[in-house]
Order: sequence, then structure tokens, then C-alpha cells
Amino acid sequence: MDALQEHTIAFSSLKDGEHAFQFRLEQPFFDASGEEEWEGGNVTVEVTMDKSSSLLVTKIHTHGPVNLHCDRCNGPLEFMVEGEQRQIFSLHAQEDIDDDELVSLDDRAHSINLTHYIYECLRLALPIRHVHAPGQCDPEVEKVLSKLVVEHEPIPDPRWEVLKELKNQERKP
Ligand SMILES: [Zn+2]
Repeated sequence: MDALQEHTIAFSSLKDGEHAFQFRLEQPFFDASGEEEWEGGNVTVEVTMDKSSSLLVTKIHTHGPVNLHCDRCNGPLEFMVEGEQRQIFSLHAQEDIDDDELVSLDDRAHSINLTHYIYECLRLALPIRHVHAPGQCDPEVEKVLSKLVVEHEPIPDPRWEVLKELKNQERKP
């Protein structure tokens, strides 16, 4: 997703050591995410950034409700997200970095935008399939679903039963 201005951290003015930041993801974030499934939410993002002369070790923690739709009954579903992600930024451009966790920043960079990493942390914390707890689905849909299950249950074929019986007898000494 596109960078949001509020997630920019001007690290060049920070002293070495650990710094904490907090963001809140509300409707504008979910609208900008481009994820059709994300209806909204109220997620708190806690970021700690440990700065040294060569690295920014960044930990992102997301927690709070995201409004989705149930994959079973399509009714509204509030999913509690709990996500954690670590991202390390190298302050000096390095070539041939083969590590997903390590991102090399341009030597002249003085700020970093975290929207992409926050988005990723949230996306990874959400399961692909999300459904209501048992018994919490829309009762109308539940009725239709339970009927479908019954109708699709295979009816035992009496001829097959006879055949199975014969085979069992054959196996007996
Ligand atoms: Zn449901």
C-alpha cells in the first residue's frame, strides 16, 4: 500500500538507543490499504526502534480489532489481531543483501516510512480463512448450511453393503 505521512520517522535526529512510537490504524488506513476484505478497525501499533551507528532495529507490534466478513455466513466479524514483526534497516547502502529482514537504506536517507511494514505485519497476523466461533454465525445462513450438509451426506448403497459383507467373510479363515 502507499505510504502514509503519519508513519514517517525522521531517524537522523534521534540519538543512538531505543525509541518508542505509537500509531493507531483507523478507517483512513483501512480505506487506503486496498484490501477489500478490511472493512475497518481500531488497531494500535507499537514500534520500538533501536538506533546504532549502522542499523535501525525496528520491532512492530499490532493489536486490536479488524472488521472483516465471516467466510462461512458472510456476516460482520470482528477479528482480534495480534501481530509482531522485526525489520532491520541498514543505514549504509549495501549491495547483495540476501535477507528479507534487512533493508538497506540510501546513505542520504534521513527518514523512514513504516506504512508498508505495518501493513505487512497486519496482513500476516490475519488468517486466510476467518469464521465466527461455533454457533455465532448468522442463524438464517446457518439453517441453510445445515440443510445442505444433510442433503450431501452419501446414502449407503445396499448392494455395496452386501459386497463388503462378502469380502469380510472371505478374509475369515
Ligand atoms: Zn459466520
